[in-house]
Amino acid sequence: MQSLRVELGQRSYSIHIGSGIIGDTTFFAPVLSKGPVAIITDTNVAPLYLQALQNTLKALNKDSLVITLPAGEESKSLDNIQLIAGHLLSAGYGRDCTLCALGGGVVGDITGFAAAVYQRGVACVQIPTTLLAMVDSSVGGKTGVNHPLGKNMIGAFYQPRTVIVDTDTLDSLPEREFRSGLAEVIKYGLINDPGFFSWLEDNLDAVLARDTEALAKIIKTSCRDKADVVARDELEGGLRAILNFGHTFGHAIEAASGYGHYLHGEAVAIGMVMAADLSRRLDLLRESEQNRIFKLIKAAGLPTLAPRLETSVYLDFMKVDKKAEGGQIRFILLNSIGNALITGDVPPAAIIQTLQAFM
Ligand code: NAD
Ligand code: ZN
Repeated sequence: MQSLRVELGQRSYSIHIGSGIIGDTTFFAPVLSKGPVAIITDTNVAPLYLQALQNTLKALNKDSLVITLPAGEESKSLDNIQLIAGHLLSAGYGRDCTLCALGGGVVGDITGFAAAVYQRGVACVQIPTTLLAMVDSSVGGKTGVNHPLGKNMIGAFYQPRTVIVDTDTLDSLPEREFRSGLAEVIKYGLINDPGFFSWLEDNLDAVLARDTEALAKIIKTSCRDKADVVARDELEGGLRAILNFGHTFGHAIEAASGYGHYLHGEAVAIGMVMAADLSRRLDLLRESEQNRIFKLIKAAGLPTLAPRLETSVYLDFMKVDKKAEGGQIRFILLNSIGNALITGDVPPAAIIQTLQAFM
């Protein structure tokens, strides 16, 4: 069992990481409001872990209302916020209720947003069950839903009361989803934790075998690294942009290949390979370090090549990406492993060479 305290402005909360901790009342008792509890989950996760969570809540004398959304990104909609609020109102839930998010990033994002807006804010407990949700979406307080005109376009910053990461839930996660989450883990090493990057190089086998200790190590380190960046820039003034390493190319790859072709982390993996290549072309990053990055991403079973399309297709998507300011594409590059920089000053010819090298 490991715990980590996240300090953000006035608010702080604990992230607890361990095997079987969904079943442990210790972590729930101090954070539930005095009213009733609602669990929001999805159709894949409910049959696997809902019973365990309900048993824990029952042991604390809490009956829970369960709202099960269809699994998938389409569930992250304003319609479902309306649906959740309808269930809570019908059940007579007031401001003293607690919403528990049991699932991946989709469930976490919509539940966090529902908690932020239901009766102007109720308690939220995050119980992430995908590696991505454990290492990324459960830290930072971003919550929200999609709009037909754009992903995550409606949302709020809202911190949970606590995050309970039961590493056993990863046993059932499909391999592709697991490796996709690993891309974000590798990202933290690259942007601000060179020691962690080296550890990943040395311990990749244990991580891929989902060894309990190794999982706890990568989740704790990733959450700490992300929290460090976020704490220094909670409302996204500047530094937080380094968390988008690999995402400028990655978002363009997701869009150009048609959403759903790649998982998010897979597109980010290719994006990180490209960002490392661009960094080396601009004489920021040494070739030996670029090679280490490529090797680790490949060894993690992640893709390293984007679909072969006209470079203009990718460039157009990069320009509409929200990080493009005044038509200039903003890149997160590396000076070295563990040391990122943000720049809008990249010659278009170098971007094109990088794209061509990895298609
Ligand atoms: P997801 O929630 O759709 O989960 C992926 C799939 O795995 C789903 O089919 C789900 O039902 C299934 N699943 C979940 N846990 C499982 C388990 N333990 N065993 C078996 N199957 C399981 O997707 P995700 O990758 O977790 O999250 C993606 C979402 O997270 C996106 O909407 C993205 O915008 C959001 N996100 C938010 C933040 C943030 O800061 N708030 C950061 C990154 C991503
Ligand atoms: Zn990401």
